Amino acid sequence: MTRTILITGGAGFIGSNFVHHWCKTYPGDRVIVLDALTYAGNLDNLKDLNAHPNYRFVEGNIGDRPLLDHLLASEQIDTLAHLAAESHVDRSILAPDTFIQTNINGTFTLLEAFRHHWVTQNTPTHYRFLHVSTDEVYGSLDHDDPPFSETTPYAPNSPYSASKAGSDHLVRAYYHTYQLPTLITNCSNNYGPYQFPEKLIPLICLNILLGKPLPIYGDGQNVRDWLYVLDHCSALDRVIHQGTPGETYNIGGNNEVKNLDLVQMICQIMDELAPSLPVRPSQQLITFVKDRPGHDRRYAINAHKIASQLHWTPSVTLEEGLRATVEWYLDHPHWWQPLGAYIGLAE
Ligand code: NAD
Repeated sequence: MTRTILITGGAGFIGSNFVHHWCKTYPGDRVIVLDALTYAGNLDNLKDLNAHPNYRFVEGNIGDRPLLDHLLASEQIDTLAHLAAESHVDRSILAPDTFIQTNINGTFTLLEAFRHHWVTQNTPTHYRFLHVSTDEVYGSLDHDDPPFSETTPYAPNSPYSASKAGSDHLVRAYYHTYQLPTLITNCSNNYGPYQFPEKLIPLICLNILLGKPLPIYGDGQNVRDWLYVLDHCSALDRVIHQGTPGETYNIGGNNEVKNLDLVQMICQIMDELAPSLPVRPSQQLITFVKDRPGHDRRYAINAHKIASQLHWTPSVTLEEGLRATVEWYLDHPHWWQPLGAYIGLAE
């Protein structure tokens, strides 16, 4: 069965990787990208798809109901992958307003438009609304706590994670109230090509290349699970095609690592792969900075459900994914050089 998929946030980091994944894996499907092109959206991420006959880009906001109604009906969308969001925790601490606007109100508008379209089409059973969310909705773990599972109570600690938690609850409610065929995924930290340089891994790669300090919050002992973005895309694909509507699936990379250890791994790979570096060994650039307020200590994912029910597991190790990522940033200076002004603190 071919699908006509609307991908929101498709000019962002995960979204653009997902658009590439979908166009390559299902060349007969129609792919429509809706993106407002905020600071995090970048048409360069998608430019190699311009010649693809089944791909179309639409600039617009997920809060624009008339635009949504028009797109869903005129394009006969049957599948919606919702990745548009304000996604950076530090920005949510400084200015939470747009996080509420896009992540909660925008998701609500999208749900309402999709429900209306689904009802107008006589509630087809193959329609799907996939909501892509984060493990940060579960809060913070102590070092000896078991990893987050799909039944872990929500306990968000930042305006970002609270706004994502709010949107998750709305999506869940639309299944239980209206039987809208929704799916939710909660995943760990992604890394890979096209990631905006305000986030930890590209920031560290680029600061090493530029000989700038490598800022690490607090004592660097915060633990994160890292998921290679292309593995995340294959998981989202699996959930759309094989997931059960109304269900939530946690997606993880089986790669729990302390922030300091992660940065040291990147330093080693950069020292090995980069032809000339201003400071070598690059570990000398590591600098500890004042901790982020409300900084969650540890995130870890129990991804047993998606492994056992949908037979998905990550395909690359952290070492392999980091090498591929470092190589991508080394090979694509024309992509990141125009974004240099954004390089600062990150995670
Ligand atoms: P990103 O910030 O790189 O991209 C977000 C995209 O959404 C951008 O292209 C932006 O222009 C677009 N956008 C923002 N507001 C919009 C609006 N109102 N209307 C239309 N488009 C809008 O984000 P990302 O890292 O690719 O994350 C994608 C999704 O995955 C988000 O929902 C995020 O919460 C979730 N997520 C991300 C991670 C991660 O590590 N990056 C981890 C877990 C979950």
